Amino acid sequence: MTVQDLPRVSGDELRATSAVAGTAAPSVPVSEAGPPVMETGGVLTIDLAAIVANWTDLARRVAPADCAAVVKADAYGCGLAEVAGALSRAGCKTFFVAHLTEARALRRVAPDAIIYVLNGIPPAGAAAFADARARPVIGSMPELVEWDAFCRVNSWTGGAALQFDTGMNRLGLTAEEAAALAVRVTSPDHGISLVMSHFACADQPEHPLNERQVQAFREIRMLFRGVDASLANSSGIFLGPSTHCELVRPGAALYGLNPTPGAANPMRSVVRLEGRVVQVRKIHKGETVGYGASWTASRDTRIAIVAVGYGDGFLRAAAALGNDKPQAMVVGKRCPIVGRISMDLLAVDVTALPEVSPRRGDWATLLGDGIDIDSAAPFAGTIGYEVLTSLGRRYHRSWRS
Ligand SMILES: *Cc1c(COP(=O)(O)O)cnc(C)c1O
Repeated sequence: MTVQDLPRVSGDELRATSAVAGTAAPSVPVSEAGPPVMETGGVLTIDLAAIVANWTDLARRVAPADCAAVVKADAYGCGLAEVAGALSRAGCKTFFVAHLTEARALRRVAPDAIIYVLNGIPPAGAAAFADARARPVIGSMPELVEWDAFCRVNSWTGGAALQFDTGMNRLGLTAEEAAALAVRVTSPDHGISLVMSHFACADQPEHPLNERQVQAFREIRMLFRGVDASLANSSGIFLGPSTHCELVRPGAALYGLNPTPGAANPMRSVVRLEGRVVQVRKIHKGETVGYGASWTASRDTRIAIVAVGYGDGFLRAAAALGNDKPQAMVVGKRCPIVGRISMDLLAVDVTALPEVSPRRGDWATLLGDGIDIDSAAPFAGTIGYEVLTSLGRRYHRSWRS
């Protein structure tokens, strides 16, 4: 059953006024998951056409380099199978995930894709990688020794990446190890299909570490002539062509996050989250709202209670920053979210709306329709990446193309 097929009940209380009912929806759903709209408090709409457009845009920017797609953590909360399927159909050939289990799920929708697993091989895990036709991103000598032994014994030539650390100090072999390994990798059957590294500060173009990492990686590339190289994540792409190498690895920008913080967002917005208005109540000046009585009405106020809370991944930390409050779009108007976020509910001050709206059953937009994820995240003390990957499992999910 699609959202559009849901029974429309006429009458004031059950009006279907929102984008969910079709007024602003980009198109028909191609896939749906989770409980039916009527049985849950939140509806998450993921615009696959926007993800594909973002990937195509990045691919054009970096040509002749290739553009991969990072789809770890359930494609940043947007749905691994749906996202990877759409990108694969659009021509994306190389994907990055964090874990082997993600690689297996991806293999089902992209049978011919090249799949790299960023977190590498756990002890005794090599055979499972070969079984899934996944390529480990090897970041330490013990992993490399284990992978080499497996490949030799089994004549496995499925490919692997070597990751080098150029300043982030997270995963990766050192520059000294690179020099030692390079000798070995000169044979044509070495099985290393990619050398890569990762930026620590690409979202801060002025940060001096960026240039140091570009330089360090340039030297590593020279040791591995003939092997494809990859350095840039989303923000790295925008540092300029010196970061593009043969392959770029955007994640965040595909999902509409701004890869150029401080400048206008060049990417299309992907995610819309709407919460159902459960009731609207009038409170008097001086009364408080929610747990801890943390917000006090400074005037007579109308409060819409919306059925989305931290149990849905709407972070409880979301609260006012000085005079600025997190916002929801209700009946076309921005309204502040007030009081603490509960597990299943939050409160929106809708005093600014006409007396008749919103009504029970209306929808408040919590992300999308101008409520930008990158701008909403700081209210919860976090970044857009965490807002996306926290998106909860209780929503009705609808993917559109
Ligand atoms: C997550 C990740 C990416 C993607 O980064 P974005 O900032 O989301 O584009 C690329 N490379 C590595 C190694 C990563 O861990």
